[in-house]
Amino acid sequence: MNSNSTSSDNFKETLKQQADIVRIVGDYVKLKKAGAQNFSGLCPFHAEKTASFSVHATRQFFHCFGCGESGDVFTFVQKVENITFPEAVRLVAQKLGVPLPKVSFSSPAEARDAQVRMALLDVHVRAGAFFQESLRRPEGANAREYLKGRGLDAETISRFRIGYAPDSGFLLRDALRREFDEELLRESGLFSWKEDGRSQVSGVRSQQKQVLRSAQDDNLVEKSDQEPKAAAAIYSKFRNRVMFPICNEQGKAIAFTGRTLSTDEKAGPKYLNSPETPIYSKSRVLFNLDNAKEAIRKLEYSILVEGQMDCISVYAAGFHNVIASSGTAFTELQAKLLGRFSKNVVVNFDPDTAGARATERTLGLLVEEEFSIRVLTLETGFDPDLFIRRKGKDAYGAALKSSQKYFDYLIDRARAQFPLRNSESKVKAVNHLLPHIQRVPNRIVRDELALEISQKLGIDSAVLRQELKHAATTRSATAVTASAEAQVTGAERVLIRALASATEMQAGGTGSSAREGTEKEFDPARQAQYALQSERLYEGLGSQSLMEALLEAGTETADVMALPKTEDDRRLLAAILMSEEEELTPETVEGAVRALRRIYYRRRLEEVQLGLQRAGLPLEERQALLQEKVRFKRALMDPGLAETGSKAS
Ligand SMILES: [Zn+2]
Repeated sequence: MNSNSTSSDNFKETLKQQADIVRIVGDYVKLKKAGAQNFSGLCPFHAEKTASFSVHATRQFFHCFGCGESGDVFTFVQKVENITFPEAVRLVAQKLGVPLPKVSFSSPAEARDAQVRMALLDVHVRAGAFFQESLRRPEGANAREYLKGRGLDAETISRFRIGYAPDSGFLLRDALRREFDEELLRESGLFSWKEDGRSQVSGVRSQQKQVLRSAQDDNLVEKSDQEPKAAAAIYSKFRNRVMFPICNEQGKAIAFTGRTLSTDEKAGPKYLNSPETPIYSKSRVLFNLDNAKEAIRKLEYSILVEGQMDCISVYAAGFHNVIASSGTAFTELQAKLLGRFSKNVVVNFDPDTAGARATERTLGLLVEEEFSIRVLTLETGFDPDLFIRRKGKDAYGAALKSSQKYFDYLIDRARAQFPLRNSESKVKAVNHLLPHIQRVPNRIVRDELALEISQKLGIDSAVLRQELKHAATTRSATAVTASAEAQVTGAERVLIRALASATEMQAGGTGSSAREGTEKEFDPARQAQYALQSERLYEGLGSQSLMEALLEAGTETADVMALPKTEDDRRLLAAILMSEEEELTPETVEGAVRALRRIYYRRRLEEVQLGLQRAGLPLEERQALLQEKVRFKRALMDPGLAETGSKAS
């Protein structure tokens, strides 16, 4: 935790109490009520089929029992959005419509980075407006013609904020220079400049006499001679291109794709993308997710296409749950991002085309992230864009409905490739399919697939069936992690809950479930504190360090999850609080204290007995040990220590 000024801490605290974590997390994860104060859903931080991700409504924290991620609303937003902590605070405030005090950052570098990112977003807003305006102007005629040829109407063009980058190196720069300094423009990814090695001394760029020499940019050189020295250096990277903004999930442009209108090969690639910048990392962005996310949630599936034009066409045809991977193979991050909205996906690109390897990687990744995948194969030669333009949206809708389950699709392909005349070709088909099956994380699903495959391939040999089943199921077995949690007794859990309740009282009044005023005098925290401290019962327990941290804090803080000193202890605490079983009563707390006493005396007794076995023990010490032994034995026999439920070891 960083120690900022108390005023900003107060702000965060207030904000946190206002921000219902269940609602905020609900923006990203489909949550179901799982208990009195618990909600659960599929973890956005790891792939899973059964919900092990929990959110505690009253205590306002989340914890995943699968991967162990846990934290408060800010940590959640920070992780899920992959932003800094101050940015997460800002975003939560935005979601709640709470005005922000001046944000404080934990380091000047962090503050600077955040400032740069904010400014770069502004640059993109301005650049986007510039491109849109250029599309409307006379010089945008060719671009308008191109878009018309692609069947895009005005509504679609404005929805996707499509624009045009004029065939000039300077118009954009001149438009932006009034508002932003050059340093920033260089970071935006929208400009190029000619490096000449010798003058690149730590940011001293203003001195260089930049001479731009490039065959196709004659007017550029001519113009640049009249510019002041410093500004001569940069020129538009995107020229004479139709510009498609790439947006983040919030719909803010963070990069562009430019489709060239020149036929000249020297004009560069057909599609040109912004490079990676502080606000744009292509492996984390899905094209059109900002527009599509609501529809994906509602329809409970997404349509994945390859290119931006395909995506725009499919969207314009009324299928709003479409997103594109922007030509590259999917990344794990993109799969996780998409999985937050739905784990059902219809993949609409032809796995047999030139990009077959990338396609296979994409599909493999989706399998690994436990997506339920269907494959939509259009007639040869048709991409989604062309298909919709030629055959119409109804035909596309019908094609979507007829899409095939991924593994059926694979089996069909294997059958086509290896005609199953004899067992030899069947073995080949099986071996062709195996790597695909082995990517499935869930053992039961793999097992089912193996069975399905042997049926569909008509494998009647018991040996071959067995081999297939074996190969499919014995994938690198996912290790079951032995958590510290398992080693903590029920008594410890009760006492930890009791200690943690000290903070609950203070934070109370804001949560959704106001605790009914049960037994006013009973304060489980004080009862537990007293017993643990006076007898030091926590010593030697698996939860010792956690208990110490809670005891140390007393009732000083409202944020119980900030107390544990290690990551393990934090997880342990989260796990215990998340599974708050029964109500704490004076009896349960007392029972837990008794159980710890028993554990404590038994352990001491063992120590004494070990001590007594030592050879050559001085008589005096021996006497003392014997006395202790009697004392512990007597204590253990005390009816007050009698077990109510015979749980403790
Ligand atoms: Zn998880």
